[in-house]
Amino acid sequence: MTLLDVSATQFFATSDGKDLATDATFDVINPSTGQVFAQAPSVTPEQLDVVFAAANRAYRDWKRDEGLRRTVLLAAAVAVEAAVDELAPILVAEQGKPLGDARNEIFAAGAWLRYFSELEVPREIIRDDAERFEEVYRRPLGVVSAITPWNFPITLAMWKIAPALRAGNTIVVKPSPYTPLTTLALARVLRGVLPDGVLNVITGPDPLGAALVSHPIPRKVSFTGSTAVGKRVAVAAAEDLKRVTLELGGNDPAIILKDANVEDVAARLFWSAFGNNGQICLAVKRVSAHEDVQPALVEALGELARKARVDDGMADGAQLGPLNNQPQFERIKGLVSDAVANGARVVSGGHVIDRPGYFYSPTILDNVNDGFRVVNEEQFGPVLPVMAFRDEAEAIERANNSEYGLTASVWSADADHAAALASEIDSGQVSINSHGGGVQKHLPFGGHKWSGIGVENGPWGLASFTELQVISGPSRLK
Ligand code: NAD
Repeated sequence: MTLLDVSATQFFATSDGKDLATDATFDVINPSTGQVFAQAPSVTPEQLDVVFAAANRAYRDWKRDEGLRRTVLLAAAVAVEAAVDELAPILVAEQGKPLGDARNEIFAAGAWLRYFSELEVPREIIRDDAERFEEVYRRPLGVVSAITPWNFPITLAMWKIAPALRAGNTIVVKPSPYTPLTTLALARVLRGVLPDGVLNVITGPDPLGAALVSHPIPRKVSFTGSTAVGKRVAVAAAEDLKRVTLELGGNDPAIILKDANVEDVAARLFWSAFGNNGQICLAVKRVSAHEDVQPALVEALGELARKARVDDGMADGAQLGPLNNQPQFERIKGLVSDAVANGARVVSGGHVIDRPGYFYSPTILDNVNDGFRVVNEEQFGPVLPVMAFRDEAEAIERANNSEYGLTASVWSADADHAAALASEIDSGQVSINSHGGGVQKHLPFGGHKWSGIGVENGPWGLASFTELQVISGPSRLK
């Protein structure tokens, strides 16, 4: 395979199917080196009028032709998959993840486009008799603002792009300033596949994100990011009664019951916590294991953490890359120091890896409890606290003792018993004997409590890019 030379590539915003000229650029850092390796276009909040006007013009025709939307989304899937050798190295360079994971992220984008190209927006005829006709339509909303974080720039953009476009909306996407490039490149790949103005991608340092919310043209904001920023988005969107979907933070518990087989559980649990270096909204963020199995589990996780290969994402055999950015790197260091200062035992890791870039050793912590920052807060990095519980009621109470409610898991030899406990957990998804098993194209994904409002994926995600309209009148049978 011939991979793109990322440092030699120039990146442009896409507005109305063309390059959008910008006066300034901003630095993009490769987290494996800590060095600037590329420049991204700095679109100003003032330029948004041009971008949103293009999206608005494109909406007029795009919303009318459902057949075209299906065909074009399928063609977009083919184009994205064909561009994997171009897109994946850009993703590695700006995000840090291993190349294989980056390739999977690109292929998943293709799969999402295919799925939504085929998904029906159902026609619901409620009444059709000799007296009356009543139908409930799902109409597109108009232009959508999409704002994404830096952990899965393409996956999370595609969770918005595919259903929004399928439903007949047009979209303006703004990726995180830490990972602007792959989304810009994606839009370039799709030029000429999608009609001009249907997908626009712009980048720039904040306050560009806030400007996407306050602009008068978009009728919906689909936001994925932190709870703190999500709340600001909700307040700003309320000014104009824009619709919002908010996919926010999580502090996802895994509960390991007394009868769980530690050998079976450990590796799957480890990768559910440490995949993408723990920078996954639905990663396992805290473990509660029954006191009979907790000591063995801690040691097994520690062993896996010591064996995990941490390296530049382009290196052969790398399983984990660096943290994505300096503030996140500092945050992880701070959370581990705080835990150790409060009596935590470092089973493995617990230190910076001595090389350039934002590398931190996969860390397992024992002797931790509720009240520790690393337990109460979302760490979003390669550190996992493993606590012990005595009875199941205590484990459930502890799981629910959080402002968040994104995902959770229960692990047991008795899947029926685990499922009964699962229904007591306040979160959008609970998996049995896996974590995040319910994250699928066809299932709703969204958080309870401070983890968000609304859902993405499946018919429910598609519906969130529509608004209901009732058309009723005299019988059409006469
Ligand atoms: P963040 O909230 O700092 O930034 C997210 C995006 O919002 C970025 O594009 C940023 O530029 C933009 N932004 C910043 N200020 C804004 C404002 N006032 N108005 C509008 N947009 C603004 O989040 P992050 O650090 O990039 O991502 C990590 C967080 O995202 C974690 O909390 C993680 O749990 C969460 N996350 C949630 C999901 C989910 O589906 N629930 C998925 C991935 C990540």
